[in-house]
Amino acid sequence: AKLTVLEQGVRTFLVPSGQAANAIAALPFLKSGDKILIADTAYPPMRDFANQDLARFGVEVAYYDPVSIEDLTAKIDDRTKLVWCESPGSTTMEIQDLPAIAAVAHRPGALVGCDNTWATPLNYMPLALGADIVTEALTKYVSGHSDLLMGSVTV
Ligand SMILES: *Cc1c(COP(=O)(O)O)cnc(C)c1O
Repeated sequence: AKLTVLEQGVRTFLVPSGQAANAIAALPFLKSGDKILIADTAYPPMRDFANQDLARFGVEVAYYDPVSIEDLTAKIDDRTKLVWCESPGSTTMEIQDLPAIAAVAHRPGALVGCDNTWATPLNYMPLALGADIVTEALTKYVSGHSDLLMGSVTV
């Protein structure tokens, strides 16, 4: 309930890890023949999940430049069901323009998911900026003491 308030969402699901949160956020919306567009700075295990597991299920996996709306616009199509964001992005810390990304994604009916682990909801509120789903690796800043393995998905 506290995370739902912080994220300005409607409901939060707790899962066993941050990586589980990302997988559980993506899986319900993708089936064989669909496409997912992932920010090129996404957390590497999210890339592995997409490249290995989603691809094995027949989902097309493609990456876009996290700071180029032009690149996203060129790559999105009617088969794209999920645009995955991470802001700041792992390792290189790009900040994404979520309102602009959401406008491009929602036009063909894709949902926008955002891994908010680096910022936490104290610094960045993806749902308020147009995302449909936000995930947190609670394992990191939110738990604070390196003694917890948990993730959240807020919608
Ligand atoms: C660590 C991390 C995760 C995964 O969290 P775990 O609880 O270790 O599975 C997901 N996203 C980002 C950005 C992370 O840094």
